[in-house]
Amino acid sequence: MIIYKFGGSSIKDANSIRNTCEIIRHSTNNLTIVVSAMGNSTDLLEEIINLHFDNQIIDHKIKELYSKHKIIIDELFEESPVKLLEQIQFLFIELETKIKTKSSESYSYIYDQVIAYGELLSSLIISFFLNSINLKNKYLDIRNIIRTDSNYMNANIDWEESQNQYKKHIKSFENNLILTQGFIASEKNGNTTSLGREGSDFTASILAYLMDAEKIIIWKDVLGILNADPDYFDETIILKSLSYDEAIELAHFGARVIHPKTIKPIQYKQIELQVRSFFHPSLKGTSINKQNITNPLVPNYIVKKNQIYIELKPRRLSYIDEHKLIKIYSLISKFNIKVNFSQNTATSFAFCFSDKTRNTSEFIEKLKSEYNIHSMKNLEIVTIRHYNSNDNYILANKKIITEQRNRETAIYLVEEIS
Ligand code: ASP
Ligand code: MG
Repeated sequence: MIIYKFGGSSIKDANSIRNTCEIIRHSTNNLTIVVSAMGNSTDLLEEIINLHFDNQIIDHKIKELYSKHKIIIDELFEESPVKLLEQIQFLFIELETKIKTKSSESYSYIYDQVIAYGELLSSLIISFFLNSINLKNKYLDIRNIIRTDSNYMNANIDWEESQNQYKKHIKSFENNLILTQGFIASEKNGNTTSLGREGSDFTASILAYLMDAEKIIIWKDVLGILNADPDYFDETIILKSLSYDEAIELAHFGARVIHPKTIKPIQYKQIELQVRSFFHPSLKGTSINKQNITNPLVPNYIVKKNQIYIELKPRRLSYIDEHKLIKIYSLISKFNIKVNFSQNTATSFAFCFSDKTRNTSEFIEKLKSEYNIHSMKNLEIVTIRHYNSNDNYILANKKIITEQRNRETAIYLVEEIS
C-alpha cells in the first residue's frame, strides 16, 4: 500500500484537481489518497467560526464557501451529478445546523464540529470526479478509523483504538483505490475532532503506521523540502534526503513543509516519506527513509513571522520557580497557545507565540493579576540549523532582541528594521 497526500493548493481549483487526478492515474500500486480542504477553505471556515463566536453575521461567508465549491463542481463536470449536488446541499445544511445551534459548548468543540466540512466537501467532490474519469474509488470517512481523545483542536491519537478500528474496516481497504480526509478524526462518543492546522500530513502518517504502508508521498507546490522558505529567501537548495530526526527538528522549528507530528509514526516503522512537486511529478523531491542520511548537510533557515513576545515578572518579590512555571504553562495550555520560543532567568519568564492566537487579550489580562508584563509585537523567530560563520547576512536589517544557540542550532528573536 502506498499513501498519497494532497494539500489544499493541489486541489484549489478545477485544473489543479484534474492535475492531481492524473498523478493518481499514473500510480501503479494499491493506493490510499488523503486530501485536505480545497485551497483556503479551512481559513474561511475558521473565519466563520470566529465571526459566529463574536456574534457577527455569517450567512454571506457560508454562501462564499458554497459558491467556491459550486464553481469547482461546475467546471469539473460537464453535467454535475445530481447525487453529488444533493450530498453537498446536505453537508451545508449540517454545517449550518452545527454552527447555529445555540449551546453552551466550548469554542474548541464547535470549532472541530465545523472545521471538518472543508475536508468533507473536498473528499466528496474528488471521489465523484475520480469515478467520473473511470478511477473507481472507495470513499472512506476517516472518522471511522482514527480515534482520538477529546482534546479538541489538537486531539491526541488513541493508537490502540485506531488500530482496532482499522482492523474492523480492513476489508474496505482491499479495494485498490481509497479516498479519505486528512486532519479530522473522532473521539469515543463519535464527535469530530481535529489534529491541529496543517494536520493532514499527520493523517497520512497515522494511516501508513496502521496499514504498514510501503511509503507516503506528500505532493506539494515546492520541489521538495528546501533548506529555506522560498517565500523569504531567493536562493534555496533542495534537500535530497533527510534523516527522520533531522526532519522532526526542521518541522519543530517551523519549516512549513511538513507537520511536526508526521515523522514519529513512520520513523518507528521505518516507512519512507517522499515530498514531491505536483507540478513536476517525475522529479524525485526529498526522501526521508531508513538510510537516515541528511544530504546535503547545509544550513537551514526557518522564519516564523508575526510573533508576540511576552516577558513576565512576578509582582510580588518572588522568583520564577518550578511552581510558577507550572502555573504559567497550564494557563498557556488552557488558552491553546503554542509556545514557539521561551527563555527564563531567576526573576523573569519570556515566551513567544503567534499573534493569530485567539483570545490573546483575555490571556494577557489573566497574567496581569500576578505579573508585570512587558510585551512586543510583530517579531520574527529566525532559526538556523547547522549554522556557520557565513550566516550573518540573514540578520542584516534586523534588530536582535535575544538569541539562543547550541551545537547545531541558533535561534534569534528579531525585529525587522524598516
Ligand atoms: N485543511 C487543514 C488546514 O488547512 C489541514 C491541512 O491542510 O493539512 O489546516
Ligand atoms: Mg489546508
